[in-house]
Amino acid sequence: MALFLDQYADIIALRQALDNKQISVKELTQTLLGEIKHHANLNAFVDVQADLSLAQAEIAEQSIACGQAGALTGIPLAHKDIFVTEGWRTTAGSRMLADYRSPFDATVVQALLKAQTVSLGKLSCDEFAMGSGNEHAATGPVRNPWDLDVVPGGSSGGSAAAVAAGLVLGATGTDTGGSVRQPAALSGICGIKPTYGVASRFGMIAYASSLDQAGVMARSAADLALLLDAISGFDPRDATSIETCRAVANAPGRILSDYTRFNNRNNTQPLAGLRIGVPNEYFGDGLNNDVAQAIDQALVVLESLGAKRVSISLPNTALSIPAYYVIAPAEASSNLARYDAVRYGHRTETYTDLADMSARSRTEGFGEEVRKRIMIGTYVLSHGYYDAYYLQAQRVRRLIAQDFQRAFADQCDVIMGPVTPTVAPAIGSLSTDPTAEWLGDIYTLSVNLAGLPGLSVPCGFAPGHRSQPLPVGLQMIGNYFDEGRLLAVAHQFQLVTDWHQRRPGAPT
Ligand code: GLN
Repeated sequence: MALFLDQYADIIALRQALDNKQISVKELTQTLLGEIKHHANLNAFVDVQADLSLAQAEIAEQSIACGQAGALTGIPLAHKDIFVTEGWRTTAGSRMLADYRSPFDATVVQALLKAQTVSLGKLSCDEFAMGSGNEHAATGPVRNPWDLDVVPGGSSGGSAAAVAAGLVLGATGTDTGGSVRQPAALSGICGIKPTYGVASRFGMIAYASSLDQAGVMARSAADLALLLDAISGFDPRDATSIETCRAVANAPGRILSDYTRFNNRNNTQPLAGLRIGVPNEYFGDGLNNDVAQAIDQALVVLESLGAKRVSISLPNTALSIPAYYVIAPAEASSNLARYDAVRYGHRTETYTDLADMSARSRTEGFGEEVRKRIMIGTYVLSHGYYDAYYLQAQRVRRLIAQDFQRAFADQCDVIMGPVTPTVAPAIGSLSTDPTAEWLGDIYTLSVNLAGLPGLSVPCGFAPGHRSQPLPVGLQMIGNYFDEGRLLAVAHQFQLVTDWHQRRPGAPT
């Protein structure tokens, strides 16, 4: 069945329809709320509150009526359930926070509200954003609209499934080790994780604070640009937020590029002079042949637009998995210590004393993957192991960041490769091996360890579970604060390809 949003290519098209009064924001919101209910089998939404969405729709409607609409007024989106939201539940995909209601909105949520978007609710994610398949959510696995038996990717799997299915035009996500880019790739949509510090982490439930970064997911690079524009900026409530500003003479802080200003000139070589670094390490063992082929064809398209392919080396890529899976659990074990059943979270019914209460509550409240990581994190931070594991991982992290800086210094302007080694795996197929899920993060983790921006765009299909064609994503990695260039290159790619316009159910 065709969904309502299928008739609009992107945010700009829907904005036009709203301005022309072809549909009102309220009608649109009501229609989408109905479709969300109808697609409950995806298990993408964890909380929907029609009255709250309709109240936001009303405000957007008034703006349009007074001729004060902005680029995102009335645009339907939804938030990963790791962002705290006033009104909607905030569970972080965990039993631990099953009944938690935040008294305030995360900065990113607030920013999108200020831009007059309409939130349709909260989207499922892996518990505390730990996972690569959205199979670790307390509310059960989310299904991929391209094939209901495969995962949508994770941890922002609900966000990816909702955008891919056409239930919203945009969604927020968070990316600690790939959780925006990877589900975007596996669900056939676009996603960007900006440079660490560009979007505020205030109100984003912490997993691994030195890696966590907010991002956005949508159908096209042009839509990502509009959404990123809304969520980026300095926030005094986040100590790692970066002083940025628009290009104003003598203003303090770093100049943010204008993400929405694309080079749309009628030029057959719009990417002339662009050097694309292609890391050898991203095309070795473990990369599925069909995925590799789709990436190669995308690079050929980019070359036809004037870009040059340069072979580069990021020699420490393989170390990103062990380094990340020491650092992330270490930070998680510290961040998740706050769920002690006193200040926050689930409290067990029967206990003998305070320590027993905390231990039982945590055992009941946290799922298996989260408990595993808390134990690893506590171990690597403990006396006697700190130097051998945690400190060593921090050294490796530095080497990984240096690999990128060496490449950007004199070899290339952007780096490209796959997002994932395979297309989306079948639901349940990863649970037999405790580390199989982690190995699939090989191409995304180092970007977070270095704090760089990364983007994923659909670039083809490859046979997956039962040979069903499933989406493949092309990853673009930029130097610090170069997300404007990533978006512009992705946009040029999308002007000459239509992978991002394919919809589940339509022939591939
Ligand atoms: N798959 C990675 C992990 O489980 C990344 C998750 C994320 O980016 N939130 O840690």
